[in-house]
Amino acid sequence: MKKLFLIIGAPGSGKTTDASLIAEKHPEHLVHYSTGDMLRAEVASGSELGTEIESYISRGALVPLNIIVDTIVSAINHAPVPNVLIDGYPRSVEQMEAFDAIVAEEDGIDLASVIEVRVSEAVARERILGRAAEAAPGEGRSDDNEEVFNDRMKVYTDPLEAIQNFYTDKNLLHVIDGARTLEEVVADMDAFVLSKI
Ligand code: AMP
Repeated sequence: MKKLFLIIGAPGSGKTTDASLIAEKHPEHLVHYSTGDMLRAEVASGSELGTEIESYISRGALVPLNIIVDTIVSAINHAPVPNVLIDGYPRSVEQMEAFDAIVAEEDGIDLASVIEVRVSEAVARERILGRAAEAAPGEGRSDDNEEVFNDRMKVYTDPLEAIQNFYTDKNLLHVIDGARTLEEVVADMDAFVLSKI
């Protein structure tokens, strides 16, 4: 049985950094996967699937449902430890419903919580555009620029209320204030995750 924590947050919320630091602290109990990192790894592999994925990432658009569902189900099934943090999912009502059906069908996955790392749009924008400005030439992410940021923010925000309502009704939504320092956010999320495993 895998105990699963889904972590959602705007681009720039820090969700990937927070989750990876927590998993690093407890390698014997917890593993972390970021949907964005898994998709970028597929792009870096140079596969045909990677080329298709890059065409979505570079526009700030969501990759198709079947690709992302296969990616996360495979990550959960191959996880080497019983507790799994996945950040970046769900990002649409369609993804949320698809995953709900998978959890209902499979005995092996227990959804422990959906953690929302909440930041204002101003904080998100400042962090992402700051990250872009600091990246060495040729080293930055293809989607860290103002135009794509605006699209990513809209893609994040549009389904957010429906996602919040769905998991609030199931008593699974846990909101964390992501505008604080990295240490504070990580300490808060770490304590919460540990309380559930
Ligand atoms: P991130 O690293 O979380 O900012 O994600 C970067 C990009 O990867 C997104 O803008 C999407 O193009 C793609 N992506 C990440 N997670 C998902 C997801 N759950 N569904 C579809 N596309 C995703």
